[in-house]
Amino acid sequence: MTVVVLGGGNAAGYAAREYVASGGKPGELKIIGEEGVVSYERPALSKGFLLGAAKLPGFHTCVGGGGERQEPSWYADKGIEFRTGAKVTAADLKAKKLTLEGGEVVSFSKLIIATGARVVKLTEFKVPGADLSGIHYLRNVKDGEAMLAAMAQAKEHGQKVVVVGGGYIGMECAAGLVSSGIKSVTMVFPEPGLLGRLLTPELAGVYERLYQEKGVTCVKGAKVTGFTGADGKVAGVQYTDASGATHTAEASLVVVGVGARANAELFAGQVEMAAGGIKVDGQMATSVPDVYAVGDVAAFPLKSVATGEVAHARQEHVTHCRMSAAQAIKAALGLAPPPYDYLPYFYSRIFNLAWVFYGEAAPGATVVHFGDTKEAKCFGALWVSADGHLVGAFLEGGSPEDPAVLKAAVASKAKVDAAKLDASSGAAVIAALKAAH
Ligand SMILES: Cc1cc2nc3c(=O)[nH]c(=O)nc-3n(C[C@H](O)[C@H](O)[C@H](O)COP(=O)(O)OP(=O)(O)OC[C@H]3O[C@@H](n4cnc5c(N)ncnc54)[C@H](O)[C@@H]3O)c2cc1C
Repeated sequence: MTVVVLGGGNAAGYAAREYVASGGKPGELKIIGEEGVVSYERPALSKGFLLGAAKLPGFHTCVGGGGERQEPSWYADKGIEFRTGAKVTAADLKAKKLTLEGGEVVSFSKLIIATGARVVKLTEFKVPGADLSGIHYLRNVKDGEAMLAAMAQAKEHGQKVVVVGGGYIGMECAAGLVSSGIKSVTMVFPEPGLLGRLLTPELAGVYERLYQEKGVTCVKGAKVTGFTGADGKVAGVQYTDASGATHTAEASLVVVGVGARANAELFAGQVEMAAGGIKVDGQMATSVPDVYAVGDVAAFPLKSVATGEVAHARQEHVTHCRMSAAQAIKAALGLAPPPYDYLPYFYSRIFNLAWVFYGEAAPGATVVHFGDTKEAKCFGALWVSADGHLVGAFLEGGSPEDPAVLKAAVASKAKVDAAKLDASSGAAVIAALKAAH
């Protein structure tokens, strides 16, 4: 038998770990990845890596999931072939064959598609000047290295930096830029507040204040319309504000974080798709026999905490990538794992802060804010359904044990009596959640 993992990213490393743990035979697992290095913990790129604190081989998988660090020798020792710098240019799922750049054909008995996602580039929308040099995106180590070099230049010459996007990549990059000593960092984003898809205006306000204190300017409600440049290099970011007035923010370095798109095109017309990715069932199996999909590219049946309805969804998050990789390996090895059961989970780290979110910021839920937002120590919000059940929870700070309490409370849809909560204290709210599930 030959099990092939297509894509050598975050999920591939965890697939290899599970393969070994589940008793997969040496010599029967092959990983084919386009990047020049074996799997690593991608989230580190916008955190320790930008600060120069994390360098490969330090953050190869599976260090983020509490496992052994899998350097190239780990794969060799386990009899796993990890092909780096190998791009798959064609896939024939029925014939069970992949073609690599250069023409080599690789056959498989079982295939796990782990091609992940790629950044959405502003050139795709024909934004004028979006192809100027000095405009960076962050998806892989190569991008990260280019950004570090540009950051060193910006620091040395006191240049201005603009971050386009107020999501978690934009937020983490802005924190990394200012923390690494760059004096002028401006974030420009169209939403009325940071991380608009998740944070309430109250929570977003706390982070905006913190960014301001660190010297980062947030320009909200701003739509980027183009870039100015000289000699092929970016010099400014043009945007319109909420009133429609146009502005230009000076910038020698621009970092764009405006979303990602699943790498699913290779398989179009051969396999059922959903939610912009490859449709899988609870075993991570696609509509083609012996073909599985995991991680960012997989659209899997996700049960809504709030409504109980099941719909196919993609989750571009590392916990899902780890868990789905393990699930697909078990299924491919014939171990018939119980159906995939995933509770949406998000986290981020900026400056000396760290937040977690479980469940859903469900529309129509009552939001209860709690804790000390002034000191930004232990605060957050609960999303409580109309019938009094917890469907989502956000926590900044707190003790290392608190996230597990939140997770269990959301997973069990703990009954919450908002009127009885002592919302002034984060610790009191956590204790109440602990008692409630
Ligand atoms: C900067 C950054 C910060 C992040 N921070 C967080 C965070 O704080 N928390 C969190 O939960 N998630 C975070 N994420 C998301 C997380 O990293 C992803 O969910 C995770 O990497 C998905 O794993 P994956 O294996 O599905 O895809 P990837 O890790 O993207 O791996 C896919 C791999 O497939 C390769 N590939 C694609 N097509 C081909 C081909 N045709 N041939 C060969 N190889 C191919 C790619 O080169 C890539 O190496 C972050 C992502 C980024 C970019």
